[in-house]
Amino acid sequence: MSNILVVEDEHKLAELLTAYLTQAGYDNHHLDRGDTVVEYVQNHNVDLILLDLMLPGLDGIEVCKQIRAFSNIPIIMLTAKVEEIDRLLGLEMGADDYVCKPYSPREVVARVKANLRRISFESETNKEETSEFELSVDRLRATYKGELIDLTTVEFQLLQLLISEPGKVFGREAIMNRIYNDSRVVSDRTIDSHIKKLRKKIALIAPELNVIHSVYGAGYRFENSD
Ligand code: CA
Repeated sequence: MSNILVVEDEHKLAELLTAYLTQAGYDNHHLDRGDTVVEYVQNHNVDLILLDLMLPGLDGIEVCKQIRAFSNIPIIMLTAKVEEIDRLLGLEMGADDYVCKPYSPREVVARVKANLRRISFESETNKEETSEFELSVDRLRATYKGELIDLTTVEFQLLQLLISEPGKVFGREAIMNRIYNDSRVVSDRTIDSHIKKLRKKIALIAPELNVIHSVYGAGYRFENSD
């Protein structure tokens, strides 16, 4: 199921939107300030963002820019400023789509559907990228081009999480929450040291491969590129 993040400071509007999204079968979460969005996206599974332009804390344009620094997640801008649209969709901001205010919630849900469909098509066609890794979840075994990568359970889970969404940046907090049952006993350094070991073990099999990338101040992502 897809998770939609609704960033909207008008609570009535947000309530209406989230009600329609729920009815359409989407999980959703609502934030009413711009300055809480980046942290939320880094630490939760979000598949698409509906982002209002005028927000307290940080405006939608700045939020969009900051998210684009680490993620290609689809962003649909909600705006009453028709004159801003070209700029929003331009390379500078990197929004994927927009809906003009006032809008009908039905129209917004239709845009959400269309954008998610496009993304799922793109990830289908990008499957090649990770296909040389094979993870067998019941046996906690990972191979690269058929060769076994000798991983501990935690390292396996770490690889499994990162590989589940190539290109997506996982913050340390998100990693801790997903991997450990009791994240209080784990520190950022623990994650960093597991990542280090995981990289070393992958390098033993494929020295030329650079797939686990550090994103400064944000976390880690899996990507099959240099
Ligand atoms: Ca607003």
